[in-house]
Amino acid sequence: MDGMTTTIAPVLILLGPPGAGKGTQARMLEEQFGLVQLSTGDLLRAAVANGTEAGKQAKAVMEAGDLVSDEIVIAILRDRLAEPDCAKGVILDGFPRTTVQAQALDALLAESGQRINAAISLDVDDAAMVTRISGRTTCGGCGEGYHDSFKQPKTAGTCDKCGGTEFKRRADDNAETVASRLEAYHAQTAPLIDYYARAGALSRIDAMGEIQTIATDLAAIVKTTTA
Ligand code: AMP
Repeated sequence: MDGMTTTIAPVLILLGPPGAGKGTQARMLEEQFGLVQLSTGDLLRAAVANGTEAGKQAKAVMEAGDLVSDEIVIAILRDRLAEPDCAKGVILDGFPRTTVQAQALDALLAESGQRINAAISLDVDDAAMVTRISGRTTCGGCGEGYHDSFKQPKTAGTCDKCGGTEFKRRADDNAETVASRLEAYHAQTAPLIDYYARAGALSRIDAMGEIQTIATDLAAIVKTTTA
């Protein structure tokens, strides 16, 4: 495995099932704290769109709502973390999703004498996740996320951020795949809550409320753990 020499500070992790709001909140933290949002889902979707070897292997797995192999995801994340912009600090959205990935991240950071600042669990009710996910859209221009009911653009059909008028829905945001994604979360990712609690790095927030309230709670944790 190639080493990682860049010093990245701080390193924050957002944990939570699909639909918990990790992407939305990570983008807000990116703006507020100048951190880089790193979404392995976005990196994998780009790999699929570009037809890379990793993308070819990941495509069917993602469509089924299962987890892509640790080997592929860790390699993609390691390469991305080595890019210079990550030195200002990262907020990991959707990684790690297994204990093997969490251990790989710890090892990677330890190479340059670092450790994560905080792992923050966005706590939500499963039952609400299907509704949240099925209404999601993303601006095709800048990637800003919207929701048919919870976060509409100020002017219908026009992105608040970039003025784009093309909105996309993810292929895996359908009821059937969402069920598999939630199952994968509970079986493989939820144990990380204990993993980070044992490491003394866990914070939890109630993520069932308003986007702005959650953002305020999250910002308070980021401030304390990166001070
Ligand atoms: P997301 O955009 O985070 O919801 O991820 C979309 C899909 O990409 C997931 O359902 C998985 O198939 C795959 N994926 C993203 N991140 C990971 C990861 N850390 N480990 C394994 N699979 C992942």
